[in-house]
Amino acid sequence: MLKLGMVGWRGMVGSVLMERMLAEKDFERCEPLFFTTSQTGQAAPDIGRELPPLQDAHDLRLLADMEVIISCQGGDYTQAVIGPLRDSGWQGYWIDAASTLRMESDSLIILDPVNRSVIDAGLDRGIKNFIGGNCTVSLMLMALAGLFANGWVEWLTTMTYQSASGAGAKYMRELVAQMRYLGEGSAALLDDPATAIAAIDRQVTTDLNADDFPTPCFGAPLAAALIPWIDRPMENGQTREEWKGLVETNKILGRGEAPIPIDGQCVRVGAMRCHSQAFTIKLTGDIPLDELEAALGEHNPWVRLIPNTKAATLTELTPAKVSGTLSVPIGRVRKLNMGKDYLTAFSVGDQLLWGAAEPLRRMLEILQNRR
Ligand code: NAP
Repeated sequence: MLKLGMVGWRGMVGSVLMERMLAEKDFERCEPLFFTTSQTGQAAPDIGRELPPLQDAHDLRLLADMEVIISCQGGDYTQAVIGPLRDSGWQGYWIDAASTLRMESDSLIILDPVNRSVIDAGLDRGIKNFIGGNCTVSLMLMALAGLFANGWVEWLTTMTYQSASGAGAKYMRELVAQMRYLGEGSAALLDDPATAIAAIDRQVTTDLNADDFPTPCFGAPLAAALIPWIDRPMENGQTREEWKGLVETNKILGRGEAPIPIDGQCVRVGAMRCHSQAFTIKLTGDIPLDELEAALGEHNPWVRLIPNTKAATLTELTPAKVSGTLSVPIGRVRKLNMGKDYLTAFSVGDQLLWGAAEPLRRMLEILQNRR
């Protein structure tokens, strides 16, 4: 059985990955060893069978004994370990959630429902590093893959509505703490049906700007608000999150020589773990709407075409509906006033599943099936 090293399994991405691997019985087909950077010697997680205790994630000798390592530990860990591990002669497969190695020439970005042929070709030519993509990019591609597969996208912009979970566990807590602050501040006013809405609005605005309103993580209110900036600045005025749209999409699609222009604005909103995106797509021609819809809805088993009606949109196309599921609904599909070759659409996806954990476990499955 394949020797699998699991690093970063108890973090946010790691714990979602563990849930999925247990649900899919992935551990039954391999011999896992669990690592830690902080709890060496403590008990390994319960996967339904006897396991050795947690091992030191910096022990290169033990890591080198693994055939596959999945890391959800973070970029600093990858940076510290992968070089010395490869220098020691390790030939195993490295599957990683961190962005550190994504754009390296000896790495591929994995999203197999979209780029299985790129992955297979990479395996054939000896690629050993397989890295999960940026969550927004992966979810965009899961939703729009039918258009890319048909060569119908000339360029696109994506305007995002990204959840707190994309920033990490502390940020999710801060969002809920902000909601509580606002809820408690307005509770008495809200309980009185006679309160004028202006009074409630004033109270919320006062609370949002209060000195003790909890913002140490985000640096600004997110509840009852939004933050139009994600990650660090790039020299051209984009944020790094926006920069990833172009470079990662084209790397995933294997379009090094002929990149599709992609740009937009990435915005943090008060959703917990679903990223939503509004697309403006310049098509390569006047493709009929029914053909576009068929291509979108049929590309993979997870994308779902939602009729462009209010009822279907409110029922099916919201973070509340999608959270915790692998489903990637796409709706609000219509041609834009700009012309018959301009399409708009809106999609929602759980950024911890297809946006982070799921491509990693599926890459393990691909490796298991190649043995
Ligand atoms: P995280 O939750 O901060 O977990 C990382 C590590 O922190 C854990 O493996 C654990 O390592 C340690 N840790 C310390 N205290 C902990 C506690 N109370 N509970 C759980 N773990 C604790 O990191 P993450 O958000 O999962 O991100 C992991 C990597 O995935 C990062 O490179 C990130 O950029 C990338 N990624 C994240 C997302 C996302 O949406 N969050 C999406 C795609 C990719 P030890 O067991 O060794 O102590």
